[in-house]
Amino acid sequence: MPDYSALAKDLKAALPGLELLEYEPMDERCSFKIGGRARLMLLPGSAEDAALALKLLRAAGADILLCGNCTNLLMPDEGYMGAVVCMSKPMSALESPDGTRIRAGAGATLNALAVFAARHSLTGLEFAHGIPGSVGGGVAMNAGAYGGELKDVLESVEFVDTDGEIKSLPASELGLGYRRSAFSGTDKLITSAVFRLAPGSEEDIRARMAELIEKRRASQPLDMPSAGSTFKRPANGYAAALIDQAGLKGLSVGGAMVSTKHAGFVVNTGGATCADVIALMDEIRRRVFEFSGIELEPEVKIIKAVG
Ligand SMILES: Cc1cc2nc3c(=O)[nH]c(=O)nc-3n(C[C@H](O)[C@H](O)[C@H](O)COP(=O)(O)OP(=O)(O)OC[C@H]3O[C@@H](n4cnc5c(N)ncnc54)[C@H](O)[C@@H]3O)c2cc1C
Repeated sequence: MPDYSALAKDLKAALPGLELLEYEPMDERCSFKIGGRARLMLLPGSAEDAALALKLLRAAGADILLCGNCTNLLMPDEGYMGAVVCMSKPMSALESPDGTRIRAGAGATLNALAVFAARHSLTGLEFAHGIPGSVGGGVAMNAGAYGGELKDVLESVEFVDTDGEIKSLPASELGLGYRRSAFSGTDKLITSAVFRLAPGSEEDIRARMAELIEKRRASQPLDMPSAGSTFKRPANGYAAALIDQAGLKGLSVGGAMVSTKHAGFVVNTGGATCADVIALMDEIRRRVFEFSGIELEPEVKIIKAVG
């Protein structure tokens, strides 16, 4: 394991403007409110800073976790004794370079992006309003809802490649599919994305966004910590419907419970640990398989402890 105190000093010396946190409590950042501390957390303010930081981390042999708004992560209880590189506020600029495109920093929230699009009378991102992730996390997961997916409106992505170089690729070369992309499971850091939208009426766009938020409020347990849908939609059914039909609403392990409002969500009823959630997920998968013969695949990213 690298000497993270020395590495923190090297990072500060090479990148004086870098926001660098040590022993950052991940439960405060993650929507699940679960997880121990991250040994280092880096919040770069530019693609260049992110690229140099990643080069230094890799040269030192650090374990690296990329994240955005931490709304799809299950962090280990014992913490992550590596470096978490987070795209957040310092990388959240939004601009509309012409009439139909929006360039978004990876740290912008999808909510902010959708509202920005509405303000510019651009339609196509209404579905993303209410998804609590960042642009970077959204592209990495090809986030979607209510019939829309980011891949429908994504034009290109800028990222830091594993060799530390800043590159750009069109959306057609990013392997975007249901909750996956060419970034899934890699150390390639998305730093910004360009979306191509269509002109529309701001009033209609805002009305559609309000309608979708209302649908979410009515159907999802938004008042309880969670990471959204726990499992991906299987080829032949809906995870939430299968879990509900198997009679698992309200099933709990420790502080983790299958939401009684929406069976697709595992919620933290207070004090849930990562171990509780994993045990509950295992039980759900076992019982759904027994009931239907369908294997559920996690959508939530379960992060392994390192160090
Ligand atoms: C209440 C609730 C409702 C939700 N509803 C939806 C929904 O309707 N539709 C939907 O698709 N999802 C939904 N989600 C899940 C989640 O918001 C999305 O998956 C979102 O895209 C994750 O973005 P994030 O920034 O939080 O990513 P994180 O949780 O921080 O990371 C998720 C994954 O993306 C990777 N990643 C993050 N940022 C980057 C980056 N800059 N470069 C490379 N890789 C990166 C991480 O390594 C990780 O593998 C919901 C979650 C909650 C809590």
